[in-house]
Amino acid sequence: MEIKRAAEIIRSGGVVAFPTETVYGLGANALEAKAVAKIFELKERPSFDPLIVHVAEPAQVFEYIVDSQCMLPLQRTYVQWLTEKFWPGPLTIVLPKNTLIPDIVTAGLSTVALRMPDNPVALELIRQSSCPLAAPSANKFGRLSPTTAEHVRKQLPELECVLDGGAAKIGIESTVISLQEDGFTILRQGVITREDLEKILPASGHAAVDAGLAAPGLLKAHYSPAKPLYFAGQKEIDKSRAGIISLRGANIGGYKLAEILSPTGDLREAAANLFGALHKMEDAEIDCIVAEPAPETGIGLAIMDRLRKAAYRWRPR
Ligand code: AMP
Ligand code: MG
Repeated sequence: MEIKRAAEIIRSGGVVAFPTETVYGLGANALEAKAVAKIFELKERPSFDPLIVHVAEPAQVFEYIVDSQCMLPLQRTYVQWLTEKFWPGPLTIVLPKNTLIPDIVTAGLSTVALRMPDNPVALELIRQSSCPLAAPSANKFGRLSPTTAEHVRKQLPELECVLDGGAAKIGIESTVISLQEDGFTILRQGVITREDLEKILPASGHAAVDAGLAAPGLLKAHYSPAKPLYFAGQKEIDKSRAGIISLRGANIGGYKLAEILSPTGDLREAAANLFGALHKMEDAEIDCIVAEPAPETGIGLAIMDRLRKAAYRWRPR
């Protein structure tokens, strides 16, 4: 499906799936509450979970946030530093919103999450639609995130328009941060790490997600495959009926199926392959999935966040 046709659907209040560098998004006009409501309906997403608004230019941010007089003096400067360094890219910034953004987008919060994706199809779609796109991941709520157009079709077969941009190169959701006067707070881990951000601005003294403060919509169970997922050693299992997701490929003997995330142990490559591996396991003839834990530093924090949520009190659907 061409971008031109997809943009027509967006302009007429419809919903379109499109590629980004993180995961595939399910987008609608972020300025039209009725269009955004269709995303929640299709995804079966609870209304307390706010969406990210995708823009095609850093300057567009200032159209949707409160004017500079109402912002903390340093917030605007921080936004400029961050967007210069990380946009387009997998960093979402939460800022005080103005009235152009309907409440449904932000689940009634006074703040809005904004991002400029690093994907030519996504950017062209936003430009041709002539509006910012509110877009969560293009899957059913709580299920595995889609990193290919096929993953989208598997979960949302009813969708008329799925733009295909190949496999997502980052492969996990963006890092989400909020800004305070004294610096940033990480609300969701991603491939842009605390260390990357600290090169640009200080970490806030406020509690961070690793200290237990969660953004709305961040649940303990999420990203769940359709089969039970355990960490290696967590449970006695029959290896001949199980699949293993391994970082480098060590200790995969005896398993029916193995997915190696990065033979060289590169965590960025591992993150990019994580959801693809989980989708293959979900579709395979095995009883359960075993995951080897990743080291909890840098990008490993984002990988472990996704795996823990996928493993959390797994229940059959
Ligand atoms: P998703 O669309 O699934 O990538 O999820 C977007 C996530 O970003 C939400 O689940 C929230 O955790 C976070 N988020 C979005 N908007 C806000 C906001 N205004 N304040 C805090 N966190 C937000
Ligand atoms: Mg999602």
